[in-house]
Amino acid sequence: MVTGAPAKMLDRREELTPMLAQYVDLADEYDDCVLLFRVGDFYKAFCEAADEVARVCELTRIEREDSTGTYTACGVPVDNAPKYLDRLLDAGFRVAVADQVEDAEEASGLVDRAVTQILTPGTVVKEELLAAGSNTYVACVARAPDGGGETGADGAGDAGDDPEYGLAYVDVSTGECAATAGSAADVEEELARVSPAELLRGPDAEFDAPCMTTDYDPDAFAPEAARERLSPYASPDRFPAAAASAAGALLGYAEYTQGDDGPLAYVTRVRRYDPRRSLRLDATALRGLDLFDNRTGSGATLFDSLDETRCALGRRRLRSWLRRPLVDEQRIEARHDAVAAFAERSLVREEVREHLAAAYDLERLVGRVSRERANARDLRSLHDTLAVVPEIRAAIAGVDALADLREDLDPLSELRAFLDGAVAPDPPQEVTEGGVVRSGYHDELDELRSTAREGREWVADLEANERERTGIDNLEVGYNQVHGYYIEVTNGQLEKVPDDYTRRQTLKNSERFYTPELKRREDEILGAEERADALEYEVFADVRADVAAESDRVQELADALARLDALASLAAVAVDRNYVRPEVGADGVYVEGGRHPVVERTEPEFVPNDADLPRGTVALVTGPNMSGKSTYMRQVALHVVLAQAGSFVPAGAARLPVVDRVFTRVGASDDIAGGQSTFMREMSELTDILHDATADSLVLLDEVGRGTATTDGRAIARAAAEFLHDETGATTLFATHYHDLTGLADEYDRVENLHFAATRDDDGVTFLHRVRPGAASSSYGVEVAELAGVPDRVVSRARELVADEGGERPDGPDADPDQRTLTDLGADRNGRARTESDVESSAGPDPSANGAAGAGRPTEVDGPGEPDRTEAVDAVLDSLRGVEVAETTPMEALTRLHDLQRELAAADAESARERGDGSRSRNGDRDGGPRP
Ligand code: ADP
Ligand code: MG
Repeated sequence: MVTGAPAKMLDRREELTPMLAQYVDLADEYDDCVLLFRVGDFYKAFCEAADEVARVCELTRIEREDSTGTYTACGVPVDNAPKYLDRLLDAGFRVAVADQVEDAEEASGLVDRAVTQILTPGTVVKEELLAAGSNTYVACVARAPDGGGETGADGAGDAGDDPEYGLAYVDVSTGECAATAGSAADVEEELARVSPAELLRGPDAEFDAPCMTTDYDPDAFAPEAARERLSPYASPDRFPAAAASAAGALLGYAEYTQGDDGPLAYVTRVRRYDPRRSLRLDATALRGLDLFDNRTGSGATLFDSLDETRCALGRRRLRSWLRRPLVDEQRIEARHDAVAAFAERSLVREEVREHLAAAYDLERLVGRVSRERANARDLRSLHDTLAVVPEIRAAIAGVDALADLREDLDPLSELRAFLDGAVAPDPPQEVTEGGVVRSGYHDELDELRSTAREGREWVADLEANERERTGIDNLEVGYNQVHGYYIEVTNGQLEKVPDDYTRRQTLKNSERFYTPELKRREDEILGAEERADALEYEVFADVRADVAAESDRVQELADALARLDALASLAAVAVDRNYVRPEVGADGVYVEGGRHPVVERTEPEFVPNDADLPRGTVALVTGPNMSGKSTYMRQVALHVVLAQAGSFVPAGAARLPVVDRVFTRVGASDDIAGGQSTFMREMSELTDILHDATADSLVLLDEVGRGTATTDGRAIARAAAEFLHDETGATTLFATHYHDLTGLADEYDRVENLHFAATRDDDGVTFLHRVRPGAASSSYGVEVAELAGVPDRVVSRARELVADEGGERPDGPDADPDQRTLTDLGADRNGRARTESDVESSAGPDPSANGAAGAGRPTEVDGPGEPDRTEAVDAVLDSLRGVEVAETTPMEALTRLHDLQRELAAADAESARERGDGSRSRNGDRDGGPRP
């Protein structure tokens, strides 16, 4: 990256034209930036910097020549600057913008220029460049000055040998700033959560983030320097040394980018926090659950599908709630209480949300006010936002669960009245050209204005008066920039011009005059206007400063509005999509009719599933590809995340635990993230899980071990499952294609088997997407091969081989129909088998037997279909006929279906026994009978 002063030019600075010399000097001073230099209506860059800007912004480079030789130049039109600045930031540049700081007309010689802002990816505050619904953070990591270990304050991180690291982040647009400290792993995890747009690293703090990263000036991290920078914002003693070091260096950088004139007034506090006080989600979990980014390409993110907020404040808050769900049961309950209150009162909720839609982004506004960038429109918007506060307070009055929040909604009535009196309604964008201060607010300003106004009225009347006085009926009064006011008389009428007219200008067909009174009025008008404009800007700046003095209270109000919006949004979602309030603090995950909050929105026939996972259960989930395993596991995790974030959950009923961390590991085959060898990555993530999971954690392992040879993969998968069961006791969902793993259920108390199955109808294979107890058949691969029309000899030989391998019976699939299932081999992406051929196994009856049960109706794949079964089917059909559909709730319907299936399954098992098949499920089936 080419930044700084073009070296060649610096060498011959003395020979350069004054403007180039000025450029080179500034570029040298801001040598970590690309310098853009205001020249007329352009921001220009020269020499090497021009090459870079032209390349990144796709602009034409211009070869220039002057007395000193040739050089390149390149310009960005000021009006379009945001677009180009954005590109430069994206390309990883810092940009210093130098503006003219002197009036060109008053300058003697070269206009003085100075850098007025520094734009970096993490500190941009130009509104156009900021995404409203998310925060833009710059983060900073530091290693404790003494290399770690214990610190003065009660460090949040691991004591002992672990070096201690600090992390601080700030949103320069809102003033939000926080710092924490911990082990390297803690900081790395936290960094992923903060997801900064820019990262500064101190000495020996080798963290990475997918953003612009700079090894920052080591001196800024030195204890004394950092403490000094931090102390205007917060007492450095409140922080562990590493956190103080990171925060100090960071704030110094933030000041530098904002023009470096002292502490940033709108950073009113630096929050010290402990990431362990929230449900911890590391980068892998955030990604694996598609919380904010959709990297698996499976559709929308959880955040997007949950976001029904009405203002930017609430949007950012909801995002941060999902990023840091709670672990404190009381606080979770308090959020649920508030959501419930809103959910029960549609009218209140909708009224509040309507008001919120009018709420301005107060956090960013406070930032602009303090940076002296707010214009009169901003202040008017602040006024308008304050105006809705009493309405919101009135709307929620009397709702107990919202009483605290209502308390926090400070209407700031005095500030509002002050703004209303001081700021003109409907003011212009510019603050230097008048029209921003309300008349009646400032006497002198009012006087100047009325002088100007009276003068202009006098001029307006002049034309008529003079026509009458002189008898010149086409006489005109006008104004131009150079000559001021004039009276114009055409040549034919010149003889009527009175004595007190003085000639000002001669045109082709007319003459222009002025009178002593007109001249006097002109001076009065222009003088009054000029003074009024200048005074008005001063008055406005004072008003803005008075508002800045209230930053704290406005930020507190912003905080309350943000919470309100997030809660109302959660309630709206809960009502619109039939979510239920979960009971928290249960000793396991118990969900009836649970749905995946994202998938259910795009899958019109989403099949709800139950979860029944006492704390410490290791559930092995089997079934063919596309049968719904991953969706189910994520759904369980998302219920937990949602509940702890304060949301209701998509289910019929839910009792959920308070979980300390959610871990996910999605197998190599599903993982499209590149980088290190996927298997290596898989194993290192598994390592983290095995190390860090506790009995309070929820672990999702999806096809772990897939990235290596079968024998190894199977061994690793089994060992990991055993470890999770025996050592960590974490509640685990483990989707695996290693079927022999399902045998663990026989050996371990808390290991359960779950599976997903499929049915066949005339169109082919359909996945039921319904989780069931028990393991999937291990030989479904062979079954599908048969289904696809692979010759009988091959199929039976394959069965023999399977049997040799792992003790599977060579004579056909399991007798338990619950365990019939198909692999992905023959199925296309939609879960339809690519073949029409019959699904019956070799041990099954003639295909036509299925016709008896009703052609075209879904039937269990490879179900034996015996005479007894026909009886059972009749019974089931009778029972179905008896259902009063209109009277049945979804839960009853599900229960009914479940029972019907059980009856069929029992009949199937019976007929299999009569057939002398003798095969029994190797793995216990909770419905099929007691386990060994
Ligand atoms: P697996 O992990 O078993 O291969 P997935 O969980 O990825 O299967 O699911 C495959 C597809 O099936 C999903 O993309 C979704 O469209 C659909 N699906 C999954 N679960 C359900 C469900 N409960 N109801 C309806 N469709 C589902
Ligand atoms: Mg999957």
